[in-house]
Amino acid sequence: MVKTRFAPSPTGFLHIGGARTALFSWLTARSSGGQFVLRIEDTDQQRSKQEYLDEILDSLTWLGFDWDEIFYQSKRFDIYRGYADTLIKKGLAFQQDGAIFIKYNFETIKINDSIRGEIIFQELPKSEDVIIKSDGFPTYNFACVIDDALMGINRVVRGEDHISNTPKQILMYQALGFEVPLFAHLPLIHSEGGGRMSKRFGATSIREYRDLGYLPKALINYLLLLGWSPGDNREIISLDDARKSFNLEKVAKTPAAFSMDKLNWVNGQYIKDSNSEDLAVYTKEFLTKNNFITEEVPLEYIEKVVNLYKQRLTKLSDLLDWSRFCFYDDYDYLPESGEVLSNDITNYIAALIDVLSELTDFNALTIEEKFRALAKDLGIKPGVLVHPVRVALTGGKTGPGLFETMDLLGKSGVVNRLNRLIAYWAKPKADEGE
Ligand code: GLU
Repeated sequence: MVKTRFAPSPTGFLHIGGARTALFSWLTARSSGGQFVLRIEDTDQQRSKQEYLDEILDSLTWLGFDWDEIFYQSKRFDIYRGYADTLIKKGLAFQQDGAIFIKYNFETIKINDSIRGEIIFQELPKSEDVIIKSDGFPTYNFACVIDDALMGINRVVRGEDHISNTPKQILMYQALGFEVPLFAHLPLIHSEGGGRMSKRFGATSIREYRDLGYLPKALINYLLLLGWSPGDNREIISLDDARKSFNLEKVAKTPAAFSMDKLNWVNGQYIKDSNSEDLAVYTKEFLTKNNFITEEVPLEYIEKVVNLYKQRLTKLSDLLDWSRFCFYDDYDYLPESGEVLSNDITNYIAALIDVLSELTDFNALTIEEKFRALAKDLGIKPGVLVHPVRVALTGGKTGPGLFETMDLLGKSGVVNRLNRLIAYWAKPKADEGE
């Protein structure tokens, strides 16, 4: 049975690269019904923080991962110490200045990496290495090897930045008499500006993407495309489908390039394909968390807002920029509306208010019918009414479909907003610019 692990150090938030490693490691196990272990490498007491640990677990869960076991290295110091003592007894390690060192017995090492193929290590910069520091803490390589062996990990899937650790770890497996697992080193993820992913090129942590309103399934789908493809040009692929066809040998050897446009596209596809009710629940949570709306806003109303924007959203935070008028009517008319505002058509708008007030079944279809009929009666093009009405309802010149917007705001909402525009026109000109 395949058994893999993800081994984050809680010294920072879970970032895009870490999440991609977790995903590929999880898929390696789950694609063959194997097991997945989460191992918290919290041996660096200075840099490990509870806040980071909480966030990592939270982000992994949010992304949809599950694990069969979880271990904390900080609770296993006796185990590492025991194996260090065994090595001393076997003459393979020695104690000096309070620390314990392993003696490497190096000869050329060859591995067959599942992604990179054969890798040959010709030399090792050191002939000995600390395995237990003088403060009693194990070093990364030592704790990692013991844990991978004791936890039965037979596929080590991790970032390419760990390749240089691999020969040392193999020597440790051999010294300890453990079986060496198969390794798979994932290529790096380059940022859009080239080089390492960094803050300079936008968000790096999963939490930031979550806060921006990306959907977990979309983010997972995007991470999957950073190095893997199902092989048939499909770009929208669910975790469940990927689980059925994932295979490490198909992972690209070359660095993957992070693309915000692509992520936005993928996220937009997931938003479009979402079930409106589910999306409304998630959106409500998102908007409330951002103090954009309060709990009292009914879910049915959020669902209508979501449906209004579904086709054009790339991420939920777009709603923070676009949809304020759906929840509040205290907006100022945007400067872009100046042209519309300077053209007083109070009579037409008053006529529209009359017509709409009489409408009993107030929905996008009936509104459109009445709207067009009124324009005809007035002998004007519907366009003459469209722009001022939009400004009255939203404060600006752009927005979702006008009749759908009116449907959303309801009869009294629409009438009040239209009256507000009439009041604006009625204000003496001297007031302008105040
Ligand atoms: N704690 C290590 C890291 O976060 C894990 C390395 C490994 O997977 O072996 O990079």
